[in-house]
Amino acid sequence: MQGGDTAAGGDDGKSGSSASGGLNSEAINEALNASADVERKWKEMENKMAQIQAGVANMLVQLVAGPNEPAEKTQQLLDELTLQGVAKYIHDGKCRNIITMVGAGISTSAGIPDFRSKNTGLYDNLKEYNLPSPSSLFSIDYFKKNPEPFFKIRVRDFYMKVGEYQPTPAHYFIKMLADKGLLLRHYTQNIDTLDTRAGIPEDKTVLAHGSFASWHCLGEDCKTSYTLEWVKKIVNDDKIPRCTKCKSVIRPDIVFFGESLSANFHESVEQDFGKCDLLIILGTSLSVQPFCSLINRVPVNTPRLIINKDKPNDTLAQDAVGSFLGIDLQFPSLLFDKDDNYRDVAYIGTCDDGCYKLASLLGWQDHLKRMVEKEHQVTDEASRGKTHGSKCHSHGANQLEGPSK
Ligand SMILES: [Zn+2]
Repeated sequence: MQGGDTAAGGDDGKSGSSASGGLNSEAINEALNASADVERKWKEMENKMAQIQAGVANMLVQLVAGPNEPAEKTQQLLDELTLQGVAKYIHDGKCRNIITMVGAGISTSAGIPDFRSKNTGLYDNLKEYNLPSPSSLFSIDYFKKNPEPFFKIRVRDFYMKVGEYQPTPAHYFIKMLADKGLLLRHYTQNIDTLDTRAGIPEDKTVLAHGSFASWHCLGEDCKTSYTLEWVKKIVNDDKIPRCTKCKSVIRPDIVFFGESLSANFHESVEQDFGKCDLLIILGTSLSVQPFCSLINRVPVNTPRLIINKDKPNDTLAQDAVGSFLGIDLQFPSLLFDKDDNYRDVAYIGTCDDGCYKLASLLGWQDHLKRMVEKEHQVTDEASRGKTHGSKCHSHGANQLEGPSK
């Protein structure tokens, strides 16, 4: 707390009045505003650079792997490259093996912060811990050396609340695909457990980055499992959870920076992507490897729909690098804004809006609404039973009214 406040207010108490003897307060305010402005611009630039770095890394991986677009003649399977075209393709029974790939954007309407990104305030109170860089919070090497920040900074607020958040309409749309026998697999980058809570079957779900639902001991020869509930009790007492057997620190079963994805992830990719007849990408800017290169693992004619608030990063980064080099980079990526597009559709908007729109084109909208209402009622009742009504999650109802366009 003190750490976060010092930058703006720290000087006031000590030297504010005496130092301002020779200066008027307007000049001081102006100087403060100017420095805040510089800091904000610097942060913006850092974010932009991070995006470009991610994009360049993506391109290099694709370059090393060689182009995935084969020379074979491509064929457009959608009647039109629009959401309507995708809806008709599903409605006409042309796909039975849909793969969904989702990122943080699918959970934001549930109130979950995109806490790996730099704009959420999560990193604001890191200064007092002197982390080498903000991402150290999720670095396995740093966690092993110093687990304290992980358990004491705001990320703790997040996993302490896992179980209280409600899945979003977009999660239920994916459950509906599963119920209708159309879902081959659901790949999620999220560690918020909402996919499972929405009822998407566990055998249809690949948790690419693990989840906070389960934990285990870091001890090499121990690895005893612990539940989130057990960890919560310890963390609530402001202590670091340690193994009752060997005293090592307990870690969540999420994938930290510096760790590779599970064998299960790679096996599933090998099995699934060749069979995919419709790829739906939700709430991700496709900036994290290896997740982002999966879009090129589906067959060459398989339609790909992306529903996201922003244009994906791979295209942005290509545009940026391309314009810097003065050439048009044509690495395999989504083609929705290219002249030679024959299979990609982009819906730029929220995941909930996109899913409601698609559901409505399919005639599934009422079913989806009822499903969200019913499930939210159940989880509301369950959480009221647990917390005696201390929390009210009203976002679900708001979401229902939102996408009626
Ligand atoms: Zn242990």
